Amino acid sequence: MKLMSALIASAIATLTQTAVAEEKLLNLYSARHYQTDEALYANFTQQTGIKINRIEGKEDELLERIKNEGANSPADIFLTVDAARLAKAHELGLFAPVVSKTLESRIPPHLRAEDWFSFSTRARVIVYNKSAVKAEDVQNYDDLANPKLKGKLCSRSGSHPYNLSLMASIIAHQGEAKAEELARGMVANFARAPKGGDTDQIKAVSAGECGVTISNTYYVARLLRSTKPEELKLMEKVGIVWPNQTTTGAHINVSGGGMLKTAPNKESAVKFLEYLASDQAQRYFADGNNEWPAVDSVKVTNPGLESLGKFKADKLPVKNLAMYQTKAQIIFDRAGFK
Ligand code: FE
Repeated sequence: MKLMSALIASAIATLTQTAVAEEKLLNLYSARHYQTDEALYANFTQQTGIKINRIEGKEDELLERIKNEGANSPADIFLTVDAARLAKAHELGLFAPVVSKTLESRIPPHLRAEDWFSFSTRARVIVYNKSAVKAEDVQNYDDLANPKLKGKLCSRSGSHPYNLSLMASIIAHQGEAKAEELARGMVANFARAPKGGDTDQIKAVSAGECGVTISNTYYVARLLRSTKPEELKLMEKVGIVWPNQTTTGAHINVSGGGMLKTAPNKESAVKFLEYLASDQAQRYFADGNNEWPAVDSVKVTNPGLESLGKFKADKLPVKNLAMYQTKAQIIFDRAGFK
């Protein structure tokens, strides 16, 4: 009797294992979490029958986790923000090259590498207090070093990826000497030591604690679309400038992802990346965080972003931002941009 039940138990175990093996799964490690995510992932499962297992976490923690899990990592896809973080995953050898006609034709060349793809873009804009600073004085990133703005500039930390990527784009376009001049000039103009995130800077500019700052567009759009009257009120006091419109265009950063080299479900992973480039997924992915779709032909109607008007975007390949990341940090350190 004992033997019988042991046999039955082992038969059941075998059956369960087979069922698990045949169930199509995708293990997604994501540093993005927005309201539209449920619909984004549910649609994929509906279209493909592939169930998504989601592990969410902070950008750097997730990367660390994948690294530590090594060959045993269940992760199929890693989604994160900032081109430099994507490039870091590439440098660590975590991503596998993906050959896909769909991804190649949908994602513009400057928004992809051989093993990772951008799925949305954001720009870094200048935000100024309309009664403290004139728009004409803050038309370019370089203007932030102008002594005219002494005691007026607020910023988040110089070691944050958003500022490092911006500085990397300056190095790429204008060289290291110019970049260092800008970093030093910015430090000389600080109203206070760098602290907080982009939204904190916008609030400080609105309150008059500072005259000008730089921010990613989705923070601006989020406040412009806020349902809180006090947030709408604070946006009335600030103006937004698309920087470098007569030269290189506004600095662009991205969110995106790639398939991991150790992915247990490679077929599902490629399907998922291709799905993210589809019209419908692009809309969810971009709009969920007030960003622009990476696929040119996909249009989203976002009143927050639309109120900022049209602009010229920097066409620098985003993978190049990573090339100058270390240089950017050295320059910030030398300039005392903490
Ligand atoms: Fe952010």
